[in-house]
Amino acid sequence: MQTSESLPYVGRFAPSPTGPLHFGSLVAAVASFIQARSKNGRWLLRIEDIDPPREQPGAAESIIRALEHYGFQWDGSVIYQSANHEAHENALQSLIDQSLAYPCKCSRRDFADAERGPLGIVYPGTCRGSEDSIDAAIRLRTNDVEIGFQDALQGCFAQRLESESGDFVIRRRDGLTAYHLAVVVDDEIQGITEVVRGIDLLDSTPRQIWLQRLLQYQTPNYIHIPVITHEDGSKLSKLTGATGISLNSTAKTLCAALSVLGQNPPRELVHASTSDIWSWASESWQIEQLTGQKTIIKTA
Ligand code: GLU
Repeated sequence: MQTSESLPYVGRFAPSPTGPLHFGSLVAAVASFIQARSKNGRWLLRIEDIDPPREQPGAAESIIRALEHYGFQWDGSVIYQSANHEAHENALQSLIDQSLAYPCKCSRRDFADAERGPLGIVYPGTCRGSEDSIDAAIRLRTNDVEIGFQDALQGCFAQRLESESGDFVIRRRDGLTAYHLAVVVDDEIQGITEVVRGIDLLDSTPRQIWLQRLLQYQTPNYIHIPVITHEDGSKLSKLTGATGISLNSTAKTLCAALSVLGQNPPRELVHASTSDIWSWASESWQIEQLTGQKTIIKTA
């Protein structure tokens, strides 16, 4: 069997179009792009547009424009996750057919007394065995076998899903494919061999590996990089008021992103062209220099 180590490297950046590209997402894009380049690999851009209620009109275009402006080069055309709807549905159906997934009509109120684990409420399995799929979410069965993986930066990370998250939703009650299922199906279809993304998704990874096992997919390597936080420790995101990156001081912003990624761009690089910065970054990139779980930046 080919392992992800023996396959040609394919990485990706997979933003959700919930707002413009902010500094935190730029840092994640830089890390995955340079890591792919340093492995002479391919790098894909996938817009995860499967949650319209959370999306912002024009955000996908604005993210793509910002990435172009910063000199990112992705292989092939931009991939839109919504275009893979049929593949998501096929995967879902195969899990239902094997009785690995079942409909659930529970609402938040039903969980008032449920146990809480590190990921929030642990689903108590109330609807296991149910077949009433009208107006229902679909949950994936879990068990209590430890699901672990070796993260190149964060070390070994494992969870026992049944007691830490419980059976989790793979299709929402509103009919939308849940993030975990879509991301796993798309990473498989696109042949992703390594995922470089923010550490806020570290605790989602065991659920995604569980899905990969049930669907008999490859498990890529995972590298979770520190997230950028405000001084109060909250993650930079649209919700915490992060604004889109400026398109005026490109070199300075790119050098700042490389610095928070533990690289040490020479000072004069802030006056260099974008392509010179990318060349410097590709030659001197060492992902191991990236330590810790958070990088705090001053946000006015
Ligand atoms: N779309 C997700 C986000 O913007 C990232 C998904 C992933 O990298 O697995 O947070």
